[in-house]
Amino acid sequence: MTKEEQLNVLKKIISIQTVNQNEAELADYIASLFQPYVGDNVKVEKVSYAPGRDNLVVTIGNGGKVLGYSGHMDVVDPGDLDAWDSDPFDPVVMDDKLYGRGACDMKSGLSALVVALLEMLEKGEKLPGTIKLLATVGEETGNYGAGELTKQGFADDLDGLVIAEPRDDLKTITYACKGVIDYHVTSVGKAAHSSRPEMGINAIDNLFEFANQAKEELAKFDHEDPALGKLTHVISLISGGEQINSVPSEATLGGNIRTIPEYPNQVVYDKLEKIIDDLNQKPGFNLSINYTFPEEPMGGDPDALLIKLAQKVAQDSLGFKPGVGTSTGANDGQEFTQSKKDFTSIIIGPGSNTSHMPNEFVNLDAYYNAIKFYQDFAHAFLN
Ligand SMILES: [Zn+2]
Repeated sequence: MTKEEQLNVLKKIISIQTVNQNEAELADYIASLFQPYVGDNVKVEKVSYAPGRDNLVVTIGNGGKVLGYSGHMDVVDPGDLDAWDSDPFDPVVMDDKLYGRGACDMKSGLSALVVALLEMLEKGEKLPGTIKLLATVGEETGNYGAGELTKQGFADDLDGLVIAEPRDDLKTITYACKGVIDYHVTSVGKAAHSSRPEMGINAIDNLFEFANQAKEELAKFDHEDPALGKLTHVISLISGGEQINSVPSEATLGGNIRTIPEYPNQVVYDKLEKIIDDLNQKPGFNLSINYTFPEEPMGGDPDALLIKLAQKVAQDSLGFKPGVGTSTGANDGQEFTQSKKDFTSIIIGPGSNTSHMPNEFVNLDAYYNAIKFYQDFAHAFLN
């Protein structure tokens, strides 16, 4: 492909609007690019998550080692259009940068993966292993697509996974990240006149009882992960009561926990639920808990072979050695690494620090570098 053709794929991918939905249209477009190659060695599968929301899996090769390449197809809302200098879904090039929603996070990375694989197919290369492109839905709102693919076994044969999320234009490799638990606790009491509190049940008092115990118990999870640091817990939302002279009949709070591999999410759920169960044994307590957006922590070793290999390939083909870092944010790798197989997942991709912002862009050099890197890395990994 010429550079212009490589750029046109990216422009087309950005122009398909996938704001927290509609990924099926993009999956169709990417599938159409691989269609001419479908046969014994190339398989294209759509895996539906919900109507209009298809994940796409392209498998190239048969047997041998399996390298996963992944990118999400959804983008976040462009927000206030007046803050943009151009139409977020009509990408424009200025000063060697391409502007548009998703240019950074992460349609440039996804497009670079797609183009890299198309070029390998175009050249008729015979791979000594298998590459699996996993294009996902719903990453921005909860890694739903990666969750679905993992549940259906698409990550069960991976020997390594590279996610093309933006990281300093490929100059940083992220290998570990904290897990997330958002929890919500509701306390139900009984209203009464506040001059006769003994007639009611104070939902706020009972909720405070939970809050104090949760803070105390989670503080005991004090092991420090060498890469990610400690588990953190913040009670971040609280509301309750009906009016100043009534015993409150309901109160709720919400908390955000960032977990580390030493304390997988289940250990934290068990602890929170034990507190709730024990309190509910006491007279007057009626507490319940639910969770949103849970994500498992993903541990990792900064000296993992996959990281060393990525550093070597970048050095050889791009002329620089990426640094290594961790992240407190969530990504699809946390879902994929829940699969039956144990493998290393890393993030390396084009784009830097304009994710989710107006006038989001990618440096075109980084995009072209990424295409080269993903090809060279596939060769190095599979050989
Ligand atoms: Zn992203």
